[in-house]
Amino acid sequence: MLRATKIIATLGPASEKPEVLREMIRAGVDVVRMNFSHGTVADHQARHDLVRAISAEVGKEVGIMADLQGPKIRVGKFADNKIVLKEGESFILDVHCQLGDQSCVGLDYKELPGDVHPGDRLLLNDGLVVLTVEKVLGGEIFTRVEQGGPLSNNKGINRAGGGLTAPALTEKDIADLDAAIAMGIDFLAISFPKDGADMAYARKLADAASAKYGVGKVRTIAKVERAEAIVPAALESIIAESDGIMVARGDLAIEVGNAAVPALQKRMIALALEADKFTITATQMMESMINAPVPTRAEVSDVANAVLDGTDAVMLSAESAAGMYPVQTIKAMAEICVAAEQSDRVQLDTDFLDQTFTRIDQTIALGALFTAHHLNATAIAALTDSGSTPIWMSRHNIHLPIFALTSKISTQRALSTYRNVFPIGLNYTKERDAALQEVEYCLKAMGAVKSGDVVVLTSGEPMGEPGGTNTLKIIHVK
Ligand code: PGA
Ligand code: MN
Repeated sequence: MLRATKIIATLGPASEKPEVLREMIRAGVDVVRMNFSHGTVADHQARHDLVRAISAEVGKEVGIMADLQGPKIRVGKFADNKIVLKEGESFILDVHCQLGDQSCVGLDYKELPGDVHPGDRLLLNDGLVVLTVEKVLGGEIFTRVEQGGPLSNNKGINRAGGGLTAPALTEKDIADLDAAIAMGIDFLAISFPKDGADMAYARKLADAASAKYGVGKVRTIAKVERAEAIVPAALESIIAESDGIMVARGDLAIEVGNAAVPALQKRMIALALEADKFTITATQMMESMINAPVPTRAEVSDVANAVLDGTDAVMLSAESAAGMYPVQTIKAMAEICVAAEQSDRVQLDTDFLDQTFTRIDQTIALGALFTAHHLNATAIAALTDSGSTPIWMSRHNIHLPIFALTSKISTQRALSTYRNVFPIGLNYTKERDAALQEVEYCLKAMGAVKSGDVVVLTSGEPMGEPGGTNTLKIIHVK
């Protein structure tokens, strides 16, 4: 049974043993995420190399995402590593404090006192601790504990309602971006962008690094996780300036409140689809499986509902990075996705019928989609160089697998985040009839199609010359 929804797994101590990673890839991981909030460049390089080696061995091209830490504002360290704050106590965030204690703690972002005002509510440790700002004096923020709880070294700080002005890419991010692109990653995720300009800046840096190292362009992903980013104009510009977005529910829920997130998830997925971009739904999807071999009923529903919302991919964080059951989690997630996809309604949005296309390849892509839908074809096949044709087709959900046959390994990996697209490496010949034979043979050998099936195929003529898809052919499989 083919699974259309893609699975992204964060790497970490629980998933870096070769035998575990191999099982994870076999269980269905499409993309791995390297979280640059943790570990050194050397750690990530080792993980990157291991993923490439095991992918080659298993015969599946896995995409690699580098997720930059971003300007997450954090408290400093404590003399005893951890304190517990009680409601009503006073507590100072002090840029000059070296080692924290029960009365104060340092800050990694020295400008924070200039960004906050009396009455602001600061959420620490993923919202477990809430502080109300009483006054700001120089580098000291005097607060009252509104909600007590544990606070340990380097925990994050968010402001309810957003608005902290740290720049989108820190010095560390820019250095990590360079190192990640030198490794040969496929996707670059940017944390906490405020608007499209932040993403355009990231793209500029990424393209310059790609040129410097002579590697292909990476695809950029905007992690939508701050209050400013969901203002309609900001969200639209973020989507326009990115290849895909992540519904980064962890930080987003802290800034806008838990209850607002499900509706935002639906809106973000719909907007991204309209703009031909992909969406990743992330954070706490299978949270209980960090410590348990089965998910909760609520987690099953959450993953299934993300699929029904139309997400391209679902993501695992601590479940695969630090959990006890990384392989079981992926298997469980895959099963939920397949079941949800079967209950999903086929919906061929007809809005494109009124559009005028200027691009031949896009016209062929949507023509193929329409044809396949009406002919009740078994599959769509696209001979593709850049991946654009299968991407356009995959933005409409007609429940037909789109096999993207490409001779480019970078395209295979880049297509790993798109729902319903199955990238296949094929070094097809330049002679048209022979190439079409090869496609038919390849799909048959995979078990994707059988004799008598109808396949709608797109390609470019003359073959082997980059320049775009311009041909649509209906094939009766022999
Ligand atoms: P993070 O991003 O795991 O890097 O914080 C995802 C989120 O905030 O949901
Ligand atoms: Mn986050």
